[in-house]
Amino acid sequence: MLNLQNIYKNYSQGKLEVSVLKDVSLQVQEGEYVAIMGPSGSGKTTLMNIIGCLDKPTSGTYTLAEKDILRQNDREMARTRNQLIGFVFQNFNLLPRQTALENVELPLVYAGVSKRERRRIAREALVRVGLEERINFQPTQLSGGQQQRVAIARAIANHPKVLLADEPTGALDTKSGEQVMELFHKLNEEGVTIVMITHESAIADHARRILSIRDGEIVQERAGGGAA
Ligand code: ATP
Repeated sequence: MLNLQNIYKNYSQGKLEVSVLKDVSLQVQEGEYVAIMGPSGSGKTTLMNIIGCLDKPTSGTYTLAEKDILRQNDREMARTRNQLIGFVFQNFNLLPRQTALENVELPLVYAGVSKRERRRIAREALVRVGLEERINFQPTQLSGGQQQRVAIARAIANHPKVLLADEPTGALDTKSGEQVMELFHKLNEEGVTIVMITHESAIADHARRILSIRDGEIVQERAGGGAA
């Protein structure tokens, strides 16, 4: 469903050309749950930006749901991103003055979905993440873990092909982080494909497959605890 082959990404840093991803190849099948682990600066976010159609590699190939992403122009890539990818970030990225329901509705506004339908879809997504009692709360009235669940509801509302999560537990205490991992497990059992970036091995171990990245190269691949 997602196939990256021989991906290189170079950045120029002053006069230097730095190679941040070096020959990375990665295939993710529909319904998989993959963690990408690695220390700070190893290239995780760079790889995530490429998977998420936010950036293009210097060379390599990338197909997502049979689309040849690297042949797409910026507008086509934006459309692919909106239709096929749901993003979850470390810091939730919720609008502080909007309710949980309004935050989940927002991408659907941009997608041109009618108000009535938006409400229905957003409510359904919030029920899926276990927040039906909190739909009219604003982010400041919610715990960090609950805010992250709102962000996850927003990411899955449109039924994306892939849920891409960048350090989804990075701003949470251990207990809330574990609850978010339980939710990922449930969503994956329901068929959501998840690619998660983390530098914490205890978090990566929730995935079914773990890839380790060091200095821009995938150096190890193993089964995670979620594979059991
Ligand atoms: P962290 O866990 O700290 O977020 P990471 O594994 O996500 O790290 P990246 O953010 O992908 O790492 O960065 C990898 C390397 O690429 C770093 O050395 C960084 O300095 C460099 N880099 C990232 N973005 C750019 C850019 N736009 N221009 C130049 N260098 C960059």
